[in-house]
Amino acid sequence: MDAPLDSAVVQRALVVDDEPMVRMLARATLEKAGFVVEEAQTGDQAISLIEQSMPDLILLDVLLPGVDGFSVCQHLNRLLGDQPYAVVMMTGLDDHDSIQKAYEVGATDFVIKPINWQVLGYRAKYIARANQAVKDLHSSEARLKYAQQVARLGSWEWLVDNDVFIFSEIINQIFEIEGLQLRGSLQSFLDLVHPSDREYVRSVFEETVRNGAPFGIDTRILIGSCGERFVHIEAGVVTEKGNPRRLSGTVQDITERKVSENQIRSLAYYDILTGLANRLQFNESLEAAIAAAVAAGRKVALIFLDLDRFKFINDTLGHDAGDLLLKQVATRLKHCLRKGDCVTRDPLGERYDTVSRLGGDEFTIVLENIASDQDAAKVARRIIEDVEKPIELMGREVFVTASLGISLFPDDGANALSLIKNADSAMYHAKALGANNFQFYSSSMNDSAVERLAMEGELRKALERNEFLLCYQPQIDTVSGAMVAVEALVRWQHPERGVVSPGVFIPLAEESGLITAIDNWVMTTACRQIRSWQDAGISPVRVAVNLSGRDFMQNKVLSMVNEALEVSGIDPGYLELEITEGVLMKKADETIQTLNALKAMGLKLSIDDFGTGYSSLSYLQRFPLDMLKIDRSFVSDVTSNGNSAAIVTAIIALAFSLSLDVLAEGVETAEQQSFLQSHGCSRMQGYLFSTPQTAEAIEGMLKNAGAGRG
Ligand code: C2E
Ligand code: CA
Ligand code: CA
Repeated sequence: MDAPLDSAVVQRALVVDDEPMVRMLARATLEKAGFVVEEAQTGDQAISLIEQSMPDLILLDVLLPGVDGFSVCQHLNRLLGDQPYAVVMMTGLDDHDSIQKAYEVGATDFVIKPINWQVLGYRAKYIARANQAVKDLHSSEARLKYAQQVARLGSWEWLVDNDVFIFSEIINQIFEIEGLQLRGSLQSFLDLVHPSDREYVRSVFEETVRNGAPFGIDTRILIGSCGERFVHIEAGVVTEKGNPRRLSGTVQDITERKVSENQIRSLAYYDILTGLANRLQFNESLEAAIAAAVAAGRKVALIFLDLDRFKFINDTLGHDAGDLLLKQVATRLKHCLRKGDCVTRDPLGERYDTVSRLGGDEFTIVLENIASDQDAAKVARRIIEDVEKPIELMGREVFVTASLGISLFPDDGANALSLIKNADSAMYHAKALGANNFQFYSSSMNDSAVERLAMEGELRKALERNEFLLCYQPQIDTVSGAMVAVEALVRWQHPERGVVSPGVFIPLAEESGLITAIDNWVMTTACRQIRSWQDAGISPVRVAVNLSGRDFMQNKVLSMVNEALEVSGIDPGYLELEITEGVLMKKADETIQTLNALKAMGLKLSIDDFGTGYSSLSYLQRFPLDMLKIDRSFVSDVTSNGNSAAIVTAIIALAFSLSLDVLAEGVETAEQQSFLQSHGCSRMQGYLFSTPQTAEAIEGMLKNAGAGRG
């Protein structure tokens, strides 16, 4: 019934009377006036016709057999509610009671019998037209109300002088006001606004009363005790003699829009994986921090953080595990900073995140409001301690550490760009110093970042130029004193730099993928060395060669070994492979196959740096291993640190239970030796016995041993 009626459409009239004569005359009159006419003889008939389809005009006799005209009218009332309709009642009773009652039951008009038919014709036309106008208005109002409801747009008015605030129904809906509040004061409206925004909204209203300018603002409102929604408030001003008398305006619920705006904003400004700020947001917040620091004469610290060994974990455990790890680190970083440091606010009160992820395993932290570089150092130390705690990853414990570089504003750079560059090179410096530490920027560092790039280029050429050489470090059976094997350790003899330590170039080689070529060279060279000792009539010793996780990833190991054995023609029993724990985790099934094949060929397999990687002790049983090498970091303080002593003792016990040999790396003192020996570990490698030696030096030792034995 909301549909607008086209005025060109023919109008329908219903004549209800039990007298055929009246019906006939009424029909003639109304048809002449342009109506299509239907007839009913009784009230019941009339009701059933009306229920089928509502006529535009009803001419209704009061006195009817059965249901009378008043009852028909009441029925209409119930049926149509507040919808407009047109009923003209016909009565022969020229008394006030009937007329009064006719209006009461909702008649539009009445005529008195005997009827002046000519006048009725005009009257009917007029009433039907008026009714149509009311209907049109009604339906457009309904449409407007519907549109406002859909748009969640409510209207209000504030009468300034007597402080009366008029609420519309839709405002009541938007604010979820209990009961219906249609009048109140400005304060009663402000009470609905979020407490944090309330003073701001009040000041906007007051400003408008002062200057008469309309306003449009976005603000938050309170729903219930804890919910909040966003609304847009618009106001126009009615002035009298230049003084605002009345503000009238709208309130629109824009929560959905805000939510999608925020989503877009968070896609643009936040890192999806960790929820931290992304590079874009980082750049903006660093700029803002610098601007605020300039204004307040303060310092800003920028911390650059890069995880150590992340690439390795990602390569060995897979990207899903890598992602989980990054999330956990992000959580820890946030946690580290929550303790009172540095969250800035822009003038609109929006918070800037200070921890960002720039991509990969690179994070930044902007510290504002620091008094001295010691404040930054404190935070850096806290971060390092937090990150290195074990991380639970898919049911396993994993350890990562971080390297941090710090630059300070204004000391280390006048703008964001130079602060970033300098924090980055400080971070590389921290890595070069062995990782898991932080470094402040110093101007000499720029050179080292440049140098790193240069070194990567030179590393590529080192193989062709034959700049690598091998050292061999003896492994001793401390009970018999015999050298049972040697570990091959690669050295880079750089034409200008001199000998470069593997601690410096192996990580570079792993990042650039050159490691496989280097390991291949090491293996071939080691096998050739064994062969040449054999050829020289010296009883050779087993040589352990280090393999990178990358060699396994690329399935290069079997072909590398086969080729080296073929070229040298040595007994595979002289070759040992050192692999790290992480290698076993990635693609475990494939790795087991490879290791089984190597084992079947007669090679020895040992786990290097044991204890530093993954707590995967039960896992070890699945692999065909020969030996565990206890990492140097535990051995070095085994006599001074109870924790290390416990770990070493446990590893030795574990090795026994798995029927594996165990060797301690990095043994430097007699105390360490006796601790290890008393706990059942007699194989050792370390400076106490020998540093890594040249092939000739090893040859000398082998000859001596042979002579001693012979
Ligand atoms: P790693 O496999 O744990 O090798 C043992 C490292 O400890 C060697 O350092 C060795 O010189 C050092 N070391 C031995 N005894 C002691 C001691 O008593 N005290 C101390 N402080 N250090 C001792 P290096 O030669 O600098 O090698 C560092 C790492 O570089 C190796 O650690 C290994 O992970 C890697 N690396 C070396 N050569 C190769 C290679 O040919 N291929 C691969 N993939 N990695 C290699
Ligand atoms: Ca090793
Ligand atoms: Ca080792």
